[in-house]
Amino acid sequence: MNKLPFLDLQAIQQVHAGSLRSAFERVLASGWYILGDEVRHFEEEYAAYCGARECVGVANGLDALVLALRALEIGPGDEVLVPGNTYIATWLAVSHVGATPVPVEPSGNTANLDPERLAAALTPRTRAVLPVHLYGQPADLEPILAFAAAHGLKVLEDAAQAHGATYRGRRLGAHGDIVAWSFYPGKNLGALGDAGAITTNDAGLADRIRLLRNYGSRRKYHNEVVGYNSRLDELQAALLRVKLPHLDAENGQRAIIARRYLDGLSGAPVQLLEVAARCESAWHLFVIRHPRRDALASALAARGIATMIHYPVPPHLQPAYAHLNLPVGALPITEALHQQVLSLPMGPTMTVEDADRVVDAIHECA
Ligand SMILES: *Cc1c(COP(=O)(O)O)cnc(C)c1O
Repeated sequence: MNKLPFLDLQAIQQVHAGSLRSAFERVLASGWYILGDEVRHFEEEYAAYCGARECVGVANGLDALVLALRALEIGPGDEVLVPGNTYIATWLAVSHVGATPVPVEPSGNTANLDPERLAAALTPRTRAVLPVHLYGQPADLEPILAFAAAHGLKVLEDAAQAHGATYRGRRLGAHGDIVAWSFYPGKNLGALGDAGAITTNDAGLADRIRLLRNYGSRRKYHNEVVGYNSRLDELQAALLRVKLPHLDAENGQRAIIARRYLDGLSGAPVQLLEVAARCESAWHLFVIRHPRRDALASALAARGIATMIHYPVPPHLQPAYAHLNLPVGALPITEALHQQVLSLPMGPTMTVEDADRVVDAIHECA
């Protein structure tokens, strides 16, 4: 029986192999490997794609979040409202600047941060809200932005999973004060290594991040602030420039697979997450819920279908966050999601026949 991988990264890169090789040759021949024309052009092209005034390339998605928080001057003593249900990077960024992540439960229907629950988590120390566009579907930004405006909070969006997604007809990239992106290989826009960026309409914030990513230095050997080495590589920028023009088509194929799943599974004994009418998801992941998730995953594996769990343990129950004293039961909606979610195969090289095979297997096993 042939195997259906969860995400076929080799096949995804193979489509672009010729152009990726030319981009590599161009960088090789240039003799310039850090902060050159490739990074500058990628920043211009990605800002234009997102409809944002500014883009600043950085080393990875976690650094994009950390540098964004630093640029917003969030630090020790401050609290940041974060989703309980997210990849731990969202929380780690807050911890790395010395601030405290304060979790907010998701809506069980979308798995994304529930704006109705923000008010209960607010304290005099709250400085920012950090919504995550989880699984590729934009969080409900309008009420989040309204809440932030009413309480003088900054909004930093974690868009690591949502390249190309739209909220109320506009691509993500400049709804909040600043938006953090990851180009980790498995993301919708993936490099061939680590890479990340921020986008924003605020030239002052972009300028601070340009400073922070490069040792706090605008001029060589003149250091204005305690910065980092978190630059986007020339090589990764060149490779990302090859892939960016294909992002919409690749997301389009993901949407076709998602539609096939949604239609095919509507009568199956699994729970589908809500697809909100206000947005177009980037379909980074296709996540279902099932009360006997592990048994379902095993049955699919026995049929050659690979699945994954995003994520098995929520941040507040990780040893890294034992110091927050949030015991089992502290975030019941988040914890139920983590016990029940299962991510089905999803990617731009999948076919509708592949999706039908998954659907049929779920009807047999669930
Ligand atoms: C991938 C991811 C990150 C981190 O990106 P890296 O480039 O791996 O550092 C942050 N937040 C979310 C939600 C992610 O999925």
